Amino acid sequence: MMIVMQPGATESDIESVVERIESCGARAHLSRGEEVTVIGAIGDREHVQRLGLEGHAGVQQVVPILRPYKLSSNQFKSGERSVIEIDGRRIGGEHFSMIAGPCTVESRDQVLSTAETVAAAGASMFRGGAYKPRSSPYSFQGLGQEGLRLLAEAKERTGLPIVTELMDARDVEPILEVADVIQVGARNMQNYPLLAEIGRTGRPVLIKRGLSSTLEELLMAAEYVLKEGNPNVMLCERGIRTFETAYRFTLDIMAIPMLKELSHLPVIVDPSHAPGRRDMVLPLSLAAAAAGADGIIVEVHPNPEEAICDGPQQIYAEEFAAYLEQVERAAAVAGKVLSAAA
Ligand code: PEP
Ligand code: MN
Repeated sequence: MMIVMQPGATESDIESVVERIESCGARAHLSRGEEVTVIGAIGDREHVQRLGLEGHAGVQQVVPILRPYKLSSNQFKSGERSVIEIDGRRIGGEHFSMIAGPCTVESRDQVLSTAETVAAAGASMFRGGAYKPRSSPYSFQGLGQEGLRLLAEAKERTGLPIVTELMDARDVEPILEVADVIQVGARNMQNYPLLAEIGRTGRPVLIKRGLSSTLEELLMAAEYVLKEGNPNVMLCERGIRTFETAYRFTLDIMAIPMLKELSHLPVIVDPSHAPGRRDMVLPLSLAAAAAGADGIIVEVHPNPEEAICDGPQQIYAEEFAAYLEQVERAAAVAGKVLSAAA
């Protein structure tokens, strides 16, 4: 159930609604908007209904949330969109974020030169994996802590916030020292203990849709983070498995408007991993931006022919500025402006 407070509700009205909810064994989840405070009551619906909160001081409305995900549901925020702030950059609403960088942290030169190039072109954040989920256990698994150290250096040089993947909850401490946004990879979207652990850190998180996951499953993954009290969740469409074999994955553009109808969370699109080849990265990015995505996470490499991982899909660093200019124009069609440091 969702309890929408009146715009003029006092702190003591809010506190006493929270107490009533907790008195029946449910959990109260507060969300303060600019005008309206909404309290999510999570627990047995009948118990909450019996409290008769409609008549309580300061309460405007009690609305049942019918979907299995509650905190990530659009109903929870009464249609208001979540805007996440990361080091002065805004994600969501009318802001468009460009997250760019290599698939994998390979060397100091590669990381620093890519970070400098994408920063100079106006990227919003820098991506790069230090821990890599590889299909083969014999493939390069990432530089680990040394990779994190290089990401920290890239951040120090460019000021760009860092997006990097956490695969194993045992690595959460070193990741927290560097990551402004923790990436949950497609293969870990249903790793519920990992999601809950990230929820407890409070650090912004980008959750990639699983290879064969429905949008509802993606929103339930977000729910695991939100439930721990971390509101800073971004959803990411990165391509799903279909019967089509002409490309690696099918980028589900329809997921963008659909997720926005179902949820208040920002929607980011990864145009690199679905095609697996760089010539499709621009058209997919334009489509995503024009369809209203809140941002893009794209792989960029100074010398993709020599990349250890995902070489064929990484766009050339020297072409990144021209790429970003075109994507910005598509984002403008959807009424969005590139997000940079305030
Ligand atoms: C990546 O971003 O490099 C990555 C491994 O992505 P995904 O989890 O979507 O495959
Ligand atoms: Mn990759």
